[in-house]
Amino acid sequence: MTKDDVFRPASIVEALRATPETRVADIDTNGTPGFDGDKALGERLFAERGAVLSDLQEMLFAEGRTGGTRSVLLILQGMDTAGKGGMVRHVVGQIDPQGVDHKAFGVPTEEEKRHHFLWRIAKALPRNGQLGVFDRSHYEDVLVARVRSLVPENVWRGRYDEINRFESEVVREGTTIVKVAMFVSLDEQKKRLAERLERRDKHWKYDPSDVSERALWPQYQQAYQDMLDRTSTDEAPWYVVPCDRKWYSRLAVTELLIDAFERLDLDWPEPTFDIETEKRRLAES
Ligand code: ATP
Repeated sequence: MTKDDVFRPASIVEALRATPETRVADIDTNGTPGFDGDKALGERLFAERGAVLSDLQEMLFAEGRTGGTRSVLLILQGMDTAGKGGMVRHVVGQIDPQGVDHKAFGVPTEEEKRHHFLWRIAKALPRNGQLGVFDRSHYEDVLVARVRSLVPENVWRGRYDEINRFESEVVREGTTIVKVAMFVSLDEQKKRLAERLERRDKHWKYDPSDVSERALWPQYQQAYQDMLDRTSTDEAPWYVVPCDRKWYSRLAVTELLIDAFERLDLDWPEPTFDIETEKRRLAES
C-alpha cells in the first residue's frame, strides 16, 4: 500500500463536514475519517503538509500586504481536554506568527458583559491577509451559556440566527471561516484530566470545575447537536473532528486549513517595479 492509497486530502475534508445526519452521540472519537494510514504515516504527512500550509498562508499574507482584503478564520470549539491549545501550538505553530491573529475567549469580562455577545468577537476578527484563530468563540454563548443557564432560554435560542447573520456578513467581507468542533470520549477526557493531576508540569492546566462539567455531558451533547444543526451553513460549515488521537486531529485540521486556502486560488502578488531595472540597479550599487 502506498501513501496515495491511504491519503487523499479531499477525503478527509469531505468525511469531516457536518451534515444534517451528523449525530454528536454517535461520533467515533477514536476514528480517523478519510484516512486509512497509521500514526507514523500521519505524523510524517503532518510535517509535509504543514509546509504546504505555511506557504499558502505566506501567499495570503503577501496579498494582504499589497492591498488584498481577504483573510481566513479558524474557529476551534471543543470539550475540555479536546486539545485546542495543542492544535494552536502544533498546527497554527507551523505558520509564521506575523501572519496569525490569535485570540482565546474566556469568561466575558465586566466590560464585555455590558455589550452584545458578538461585540468582543467582531473586535477580534482577522485583519487582511491574516489567519485568525479563535480558541473558543461566540459558540460558548450557545454552549456553556445554555447548559449553565447563564441567560434565559429565549435569549440563547435567538442567538443561532444572530450568529448565522453575523458569519454571513463576515464571509461577505472576505473572510473564509473554518469551524472545527473537536470531540473526545469521556474516557479519553478522564485519562487526560488524570494526567494533569499526576504531572507537576500539568497541574496548572487542571481546573476542578472541569470535573463538574463532565456530569453535564448529556446537556452539552444536546447543545453541540443544536449548534451543528442550526449553524452549519454553506457559507460557514462545521467540521466534526474526532480528537482521541491527537496525531489524526492535527493532520485533519491542517487539511481543513489547506482546503480553505486552496479555495482562495492564491498567487504571489505581481511586483510593482521592473525586475530587470532593479537587477541592474542592484548590480551597480
Ligand atoms: P481551556 O480549557 O480552553 O484551555 P482555560 O480554562 O485555560 O481554557 P479560561 O481563560 O479559564 O481558559 O476560559 C475558559 C472558560 O471560559 C471556559 O470555562 C468557558 O466555558 C468560559 N467561557 C468562554 N466564553 C464564555 C462565554 N461567552 N460565556 C460564559 N463562559 C465563557
